Amino acid sequence: MALSLNDIRHLFDTYGALAYSGEPVTQLEHALQTAYLAEQAGAHRELIVAALLHDLGHLLNLQGDTPTTRGIDDLHQYYALPFLRPLFADAVLEPIRLHVDAKRCLCAVDASYHALLSPDSVRSLQLQGGVFDADEARDFLARPFAEDALALRRWDDEAKDAARGTPPLAHYLEYAEDIALRN
Ligand code: FE
Repeated sequence: MALSLNDIRHLFDTYGALAYSGEPVTQLEHALQTAYLAEQAGAHRELIVAALLHDLGHLLNLQGDTPTTRGIDDLHQYYALPFLRPLFADAVLEPIRLHVDAKRCLCAVDASYHALLSPDSVRSLQLQGGVFDADEARDFLARPFAEDALALRRWDDEAKDAARGTPPLAHYLEYAEDIALRN
């Protein structure tokens, strides 16, 4: 089970025009906006690539429109990992794996955060296990790459703007190629 960078490009070419569940952007726009926000913030390349690929699991495991309204948690944060593991280091994989738990953590530690979530994100929060309690939040924050996951999560939540322009996919796939473990 491994994806090449060409496979990743092909996934975005094939499924990128699908709606990003319950939001006014497509899957590709959401991925590019998340990567762009990371890049604008001065994130390292691994984190920019994690931002680009954080929801690739949605494209590998299609569940149709707005699965949260049908009570489905697609576990997308885990789904892409076996496919990406041969290609990227933990600095890419771990923020992807942790980006859902990062939401559960931010809801626990930042009182203003929950109010920023979109309706679909609030719905999925419940399916994903809900807000962390204080112990769970502390354990999360002690994990390697927790800070990167929190940063990714905030870009993720912002990357739903129908009017935001970004560089093209090829720009971010170049970063991916630069940091890939084998080309
Ligand atoms: Fe996302």
